[in-house]
Amino acid sequence: MTKTAAILAVGSELLAGQIVNGNAAWLSTRLGELGFIVTTHLTVDDIEADIVTAIEELTARVEVLFITGGLGPTSDDLTRNAVASWAGLSLSFDSSSWDHVKAQLARVGVAVPEANRQQCFFPSGAQVLTNSAGTANGFSLKTKGKEIWVLPGPPREIEAIWDDHIGAALGERVPLNERRTTKMWRMIGKGESHLAELITPVVKGHDVGIAYRVHAPYVELKVSFPTVDSDKHAQLCQQLTELLKPWLFETDQQDTPSQLADLLKSYPSVAIIDMATQGHLAELLTGHLREIADTRDILLQTQWRVTQKPPRDGVTDALDRAPKFALVLAVAGVDASGNWVLGWRVNGQSFLAEYAAPFKHTVHRSRTLKAIAALAAKSWHSALSTVS
Ligand code: ATP
Repeated sequence: MTKTAAILAVGSELLAGQIVNGNAAWLSTRLGELGFIVTTHLTVDDIEADIVTAIEELTARVEVLFITGGLGPTSDDLTRNAVASWAGLSLSFDSSSWDHVKAQLARVGVAVPEANRQQCFFPSGAQVLTNSAGTANGFSLKTKGKEIWVLPGPPREIEAIWDDHIGAALGERVPLNERRTTKMWRMIGKGESHLAELITPVVKGHDVGIAYRVHAPYVELKVSFPTVDSDKHAQLCQQLTELLKPWLFETDQQDTPSQLADLLKSYPSVAIIDMATQGHLAELLTGHLREIADTRDILLQTQWRVTQKPPRDGVTDALDRAPKFALVLAVAGVDASGNWVLGWRVNGQSFLAEYAAPFKHTVHRSRTLKAIAALAAKSWHSALSTVS
């Protein structure tokens, strides 16, 4: 009973190339996981007649249609009108959505503009989907033998509505024997073909789908199987996790930056001095550090100036530079031989480790720096895991 689905994105910004249609990619991934076949992605301008035509064309082809964008409070937000017009329904005011708009805006201390009332009109009979991440509620509608899910444009609002309303509702409908589970392992520091050489003999003979994806500096492995066979494949998944451990950066369950941040929690003050990655390390860690920063002193310093010192000396200096901090982490590189150096000082003792640069042929390119950031986080994590 595989269902077909299409995703219609509404917005002139998309057509002008100012933003890319990440919502379609995200929804397609979620729908694929539930066993839907997504046959079409389409984008149209904020023009009511164009939206109506697109809905007509897409509903003729698929059973379930998702529409994103154009639910805002301005005059170019016409999606609700287009859906009502296609369905031959009038729009009616939903007072609980108006309460929701007022509550959301009150939370951020903004006066409620009258224009936001527009966001509270829905085609009669539609089921309103409360948006816990924004003002614009979505809605779903079953009519003309089709099912339509209408969502706002901002990605985090779509994710919130999916989590609160859509995922479980659609998931329940997929018969147990048609559900598939996909497990993911993201690695750093070893190439795709080398990883495949290790993985192939382990998965041989197991009835699972295997996919590799390279997005430098990471290599991703996905293993999928019918959900009913989860127990049967649990041991294989465990085996893969063990096998890939030396290069593992992230799985569905955990990722290295948040694991590192967890370890940092046990120190009252932490200094991280980055002389290597030109900001990539900050990009990786900032969100996680923010979550633990309330109760501890954190210094995250990116040094851009190129020093004449060899990386080893740079790291040694950095470890001594922040004596007030209970834990100091430092990274420097890449030197003439392409190596980079990692250091940490804990309980008054300093440690240094030297590594060969990943991707030697592109020493100064961004993916090398990204790789060093990820490898530094991973190496600090394993070093600190062994510190009592
Ligand atoms: P709002 O109340 O914020 O106006 P809306 O439902 O009217 O919501 P849009 O105005 O269409 O949504 O889009 C709001 C923002 O959401 C866009 O500026 C863009 O940043 C993001 N966005 C919209 N559509 C997409 C898309 N298809 N993929 C990724 N991001 C999108």
